[in-house]
Amino acid sequence: MIDLLIRNVRIIDGSGSAPFEGDVAVDDGRIVAVGQAPAGAAQREIDGRGRCLAPGFIDTHAHDDGAFLRHPDMTFKLAQGVTTTVSGNCGFSAIPAATGGSGASGPGVSGPGASAGLLGRMAGDFTDLNGYFAAVMARGPAINNLMLVGHNTVRELVMGLEARAPSAAELQAMRNHVECAMEQGACGFSTGLIYRPGRYSDTAEVIEIARAVQPFGGLYTTHMRNEGDGLLEAVDESLAIGRAAGLHVHISHHKAAGRANWGKVGASLAKVDAALAAGQAVTLDVYPYTAGSGRMIEYFNLERPSRELAEVIRIASCPAFREFEGRMLVDIAAERGIDVTEAVKLVLTAPRGDQTLCIQFIIDEADIETNLRHDDMMVGSDGIPDLRGRPHPRLFGTFPRILARYVRERGVLSLPEAVRRMTALPATTFGLDNRGSIRPGYWADLVLFDPVDVRDTATYDDPQQLPEGINCVVVNGQVAFEAGAGTGVAAGRMLRFRQSAWGAAEH
Ligand SMILES: [Zn+2]
Repeated sequence: MIDLLIRNVRIIDGSGSAPFEGDVAVDDGRIVAVGQAPAGAAQREIDGRGRCLAPGFIDTHAHDDGAFLRHPDMTFKLAQGVTTTVSGNCGFSAIPAATGGSGASGPGVSGPGASAGLLGRMAGDFTDLNGYFAAVMARGPAINNLMLVGHNTVRELVMGLEARAPSAAELQAMRNHVECAMEQGACGFSTGLIYRPGRYSDTAEVIEIARAVQPFGGLYTTHMRNEGDGLLEAVDESLAIGRAAGLHVHISHHKAAGRANWGKVGASLAKVDAALAAGQAVTLDVYPYTAGSGRMIEYFNLERPSRELAEVIRIASCPAFREFEGRMLVDIAAERGIDVTEAVKLVLTAPRGDQTLCIQFIIDEADIETNLRHDDMMVGSDGIPDLRGRPHPRLFGTFPRILARYVRERGVLSLPEAVRRMTALPATTFGLDNRGSIRPGYWADLVLFDPVDVRDTATYDDPQQLPEGINCVVVNGQVAFEAGAGTGVAAGRMLRFRQSAWGAAEH
């Protein structure tokens, strides 16, 4: 008897081709039949009632390194139909970490200057990727995770937050950390070159470290040095790094930030197309919202805070002023009778003000559509999983929002194409063999959804809302989400680039 039979569904297999009707059978974690159900009974049968069955969505841009330890149920992702995240983005990763460090950097805790700002405190005693995987698996994760090793984290561990070039020995130490993570199954090297300490590095440094990834065939993913006035130069730098290091380049959350730059994504994508035509491997991802989000202190020069930016800032998480969460900075300033630039200083110079997370309305809606029309554009939530405040709604809504707004309402891309970009394309790009497609022999990561009703409900005012129309999510062959809630089966695994999952013999 097989484990699971999902009958009567419209199968969207991830290839981008038209849906077809049939059944999908699952046994021992894997898909065993697609189309006609095999004879004989199944342990569990689900009637799909004509709804769509797709491969589980892959969130190519996550900051869930710490969330897997703090919230192993991962409901905010699972409820969207996400079965795998790629964490360690923007140069910030849980690993490598110092052991027995002093002050803020205790065991398995990355320094507060860098990683902890986005990832939160790392509860767990680990220093490397194997240790991190063991710590996560001990908590029983609901979904799968794949990791990048981050430049900011590596650089801070080796050099602190010093604004200088590394010595030869420091450069070698950084390369060694990256090589170790790759050996243990990381999928690549990420940078966040607008953040500290990554912004202190030059292109040559990044290339030298990225070269450690090349023997493993992993990726170079980047939150580029500039996404506004210097967007096009930053794309040039990213492509040059990929060529020099011999790596596939993946541009994270592609956007043109700031009103003066709106529309520039067209020119930026033209550069990507030229590189593709010349034979370079390049992909990108985007989140379907007109606001970004991040650690507020990284975006402002406290001596001369930008008024233009301050005016579009909304506070997400603010340990110093919880009452500011969910409010626009201009409203806070008006209420206090101070200038909006003074409000920036008020928030950021308060005790723990540097931990403030903000949401900034800096992106043009038309640019999101331009991005989504590109064949090599994936979807990455960029959600920051701080559930104490009012996080950007992308944390809870990204994938259903693609299906509702950009497929059903606006027709920017077809349903099979949207599914391909959220499943098979990221799976093949990020070295996830045997995932991301509905095919016999593939791991059974699946999402059953209603194409008419699926929608995001998370808003900026009320962001911690689960989407509607996601009926059932299967992770590694086990029903992980149904009837609007997680089932607690903890079937997630720590995935490794072009290898078997951590702790598993079978590929
Ligand atoms: Zn980023």
